[in-house]
Amino acid sequence: MTKRITVPTRSKTELVDITPEIEKIVEASGVKEGICWVFIPHTTAGITINEGADPSVKRDILSRLDKLIPGAESYEHLEGNAPAHIKASIVGSSQTLIIENGKLLLGTWQSVYLCEFDGPRHRKIIIKVE
Ligand code: ZN
Repeated sequence: MTKRITVPTRSKTELVDITPEIEKIVEASGVKEGICWVFIPHTTAGITINEGADPSVKRDILSRLDKLIPGAESYEHLEGNAPAHIKASIVGSSQTLIIENGKLLLGTWQSVYLCEFDGPRHRKIIIKVE
């Protein structure tokens, strides 16, 4: 099954934990052993998996990406959001998750994040469970 969800973001850059939404979709699918693909169809946002317990990790990821890809540089892309495009490519637009016993097989401290790099916006996410 394939599901689409929309997630609102609130800041220019932000990591939004979407693990609960994905878990609900996996549960509703009835799939006990399988794969869950999470894909974001946007060019200035991404999907990543990282630390879900300590919020300082999210802040460190965003602030370090800001330092690596500064907004003040001159870029060819004239929309003014070149850094967001570059960050989205670094992070990537999808993740593959394993389903075991009807649950996502994530590490104890792992969460799945929508990475917003050009918000605030409403972001679509496509989730496929098989
Ligand atoms: Zn652009």
